[in-house]
Amino acid sequence: MDKQNLLEKLVALCKRRGIIFPGSEIYGGLGGTWDFGPVGAEIKKNLKDLWWKEMVQLRDDVVGIDSAIILNPRVWEASGHVEAFTDPLVECKVCHARFRADHPEEIAEHEKTHDKKPQWTDPQKFNLLVRSYLGVLEGKETEVFLRGEITQGVHVDFKNVVNSTRVRIPFGIAQIGKAFRNEITPGNFIFRSREFEQMEVQFFIKPDEQEGMKWFEYWKKNRLDWYISLGISPDHLRFHDHEEGERAHYAKAATDIEYDAPWGWAEFMGIHHRGDWDLSRHQKFSGQDLTYKDPETGGSFLPWDIETSAGVDRSILFLLLEAYQEDGKRVYLKLDPRLAAYKAAVFPLLANKPELVEKANIIYQKLKQDLMVAWDSRGNIGGRYAAQDEIGTPFCITVDFQTLEDNTITIRDRDTAQQERVKIEDLARMLSSKINEPKN
Ligand code: ATP
Repeated sequence: MDKQNLLEKLVALCKRRGIIFPGSEIYGGLGGTWDFGPVGAEIKKNLKDLWWKEMVQLRDDVVGIDSAIILNPRVWEASGHVEAFTDPLVECKVCHARFRADHPEEIAEHEKTHDKKPQWTDPQKFNLLVRSYLGVLEGKETEVFLRGEITQGVHVDFKNVVNSTRVRIPFGIAQIGKAFRNEITPGNFIFRSREFEQMEVQFFIKPDEQEGMKWFEYWKKNRLDWYISLGISPDHLRFHDHEEGERAHYAKAATDIEYDAPWGWAEFMGIHHRGDWDLSRHQKFSGQDLTYKDPETGGSFLPWDIETSAGVDRSILFLLLEAYQEDGKRVYLKLDPRLAAYKAAVFPLLANKPELVEKANIIYQKLKQDLMVAWDSRGNIGGRYAAQDEIGTPFCITVDFQTLEDNTITIRDRDTAQQERVKIEDLARMLSSKINEPKN
């Protein structure tokens, strides 16, 4: 399949089938914003639930939080996000590092860290943090920022989590939530937006070089394996380790997991060894003691942090690109059933036969107690299959005349388009085992 074409086809399918719409479309849109439609909202929720299950529910060493989007503006001073935004900056097109346009010596110094001569964006006033006002008056005193990354909420709550739970180092704090950035060039569909969601774990460890690299490697593998388990081909994934000059100045090590996107290899998520950068800065700016008291040794230290930071929207884009399949005229999304918006769709073969509709409705009402299930009685059966294929519904259940005689239905598999007859009494059990075993 032609790769650039693939993105266009996916964008069209997402609009046509209620997965993703351009934001504020009836007003001509709003650059870098997107809405998830009825199908997309389900897929997104499923992805976040799977992530939370894997990262929090199934682990004994990670707890989750849900911090405010608007934090005390001092947070962003401590994190270094504020100071860089008031001056005209140029951005290195290789590593996205930003420098004051009026500091040529820093620019020259930075150029030495790259093999190739970096290209620079034109100087402009970067305003990556989205500003707003809290309270009725507008002015410096009420100016706040919508968070540019969800990371800082975790660091700000570090002490509260340690004091209120039984966590002991090493442990992680997980969070999923919205972030906002005034991206200069949003694009490639939902790949780079101005409002997006992140899912992150900040994993706190002893400040020790060996421990640091051990956990850094652990999380690299852990995250790669997870995306593969969701159906992304290992051939379409790779690590991009950041060299010294390419990573943020505080990062001791950093890597991106990249995806073989239609426009080239693109950042999927980041794994960053942040050392004690964040906690030490917040300790300094807040004047609070953020050290961790080690119950084993009685000593105290500022932990190091290994961060795994993924975009929810970007993950969805790559999972959808990976799932998009064409088979002759048939288009279907080969999504892992756990991600699919609807696990099954139920159809009466003919909408004008009340006995079929009634029987199908009983099955539908029963299944939907435990699963997201779709109902369709419009048009012909071929059109209904096509619609479900395009949103990735793994199974279609049809009630036909034979059902009325022997209580069996047909169940059609999305990927093979094959049907088999199954007893109604076995249906729920069969669906649940098929949905929960990874399909890819
Ligand atoms: P990029 O280099 O693509 O701008 P980044 O290195 O600035 O990304 P991080 O700050 O490390 O990204 O954020 C972690 C993750 O959040 C990214 O890997 C990506 O999945 C997601 N993300 C970041 N910016 C955006 C955005 N503008 N739109 C959608 N997702 C984003």
